Amino acid sequence: MELRLAAVFTSVRAAEVKSDEPLCAYVYDLEALRQHVDQLVSTLPDNCRLFYAIKANSDLPILEALAPLVHGFEVSSGGELDWVRAHFADIPVAFSGPGKLDRELSRALESNVECLHIESFSELQRLAEIAKGASQPMGILLRVNLPVDNLTKTSLMMGGKPTPFGMPVEQLEACFNWLQTHPEIRLRGFHFHLLSHQLDAQAHLQLLAAYQLQVRQWCDAYDLQIDHINVGGGIGINYRQPEQQFDWKAFSTGLVALQDNTVLPGINIRFELGRYITAACGYYVMQVIDIKHSYDQYFLIGRGGTHHFRTPYAQGHSHPFHVLPVNAWPHAYPRLSVSNDRVSIVGQLCTPKDLLAFDAPVESVSCGDLLVFPYAGAYAWNISHHDFLRHPPPMQWYLPTEQS
Ligand SMILES: *Cc1c(COP(=O)(O)O)cnc(C)c1O
Repeated sequence: MELRLAAVFTSVRAAEVKSDEPLCAYVYDLEALRQHVDQLVSTLPDNCRLFYAIKANSDLPILEALAPLVHGFEVSSGGELDWVRAHFADIPVAFSGPGKLDRELSRALESNVECLHIESFSELQRLAEIAKGASQPMGILLRVNLPVDNLTKTSLMMGGKPTPFGMPVEQLEACFNWLQTHPEIRLRGFHFHLLSHQLDAQAHLQLLAAYQLQVRQWCDAYDLQIDHINVGGGIGINYRQPEQQFDWKAFSTGLVALQDNTVLPGINIRFELGRYITAACGYYVMQVIDIKHSYDQYFLIGRGGTHHFRTPYAQGHSHPFHVLPVNAWPHAYPRLSVSNDRVSIVGQLCTPKDLLAFDAPVESVSCGDLLVFPYAGAYAWNISHHDFLRHPPPMQWYLPTEQS
């Protein structure tokens, strides 16, 4: 996962020169995105498939860059499904999400969804009413909320705890029995999405091994004929120590070994990654409007804020950033600066929650400099509350641009 910082910085500087107001922008590096995903897909074992969970970032240029490279898209709403089908008539689609409407289930049948992820027994029964009379059986996975206690050192683990996602293990038997008399639905396997922000490759491999063992037992106990299991998303981005990212090389190597000795021969493993695919291709840029020294603390006030980039506040971290010095200072009054100190970075919103970085060391930063936040390509613009305070949206562009 290489960041092409030089190319991004060059384009940000060029935009700053042309702008007659402090700059605020999202920049996406599509070439880096392609290289990253190409590398992920090419290092997966043969029986593994990579889907992209589009809720991480469903902007069209991102999806267009990814569509030829991934095996399919995972959608979590009827809106996402329609968006994908409007632009990609044939790409394989998996459809997840608690609380699907009847209309969304019908749309799934009409729009050639390849696999539906069923979240409860009653959703299964509802689907059967809708799928009755369809020309072919609807393929489904049962989403399971699986306890994997020995592997849960992290509070990010949802598995085995009360959640609205998936069904507890003890409800599966009723589903298996019921499915025997419902040929309009075909059980293709199981879906597990038990955690987010996984940074430990070995722990993730152990989790996958545990899923496979569990599925082997269900297949044997209930004589199930399945074709794949979906092991969800959840591979994380290390925002706190960006130089220490998830070790994909160790992960893919371990995965090859796991698949060589698999307890589920002939069964595909499907990933539906979101954050890990698109986080690194996006950058959020703010130009410093003001610097305040308030009771021993420095605040950099940038153009923009959490209404554009809610990721750091949503995750509770201080987001990493780069300072791009801008030499021009068009004013007669002295330019404010901070050197070798710690700063908080805030935006333009009238709330103390508008915080993007805190207690962050800087060598030197001045009013008018540019702040570039990397890892802003997933759960960033599209999880933010854009209309709060009615500031205009940031500029947005995609590298490589025509001039580069
Ligand atoms: C959000 C989500 C994903 C993607 O998760 P990431 O942490 O972004 O990889 C995958 N599957 C399901 C069911 C999800 O809800």
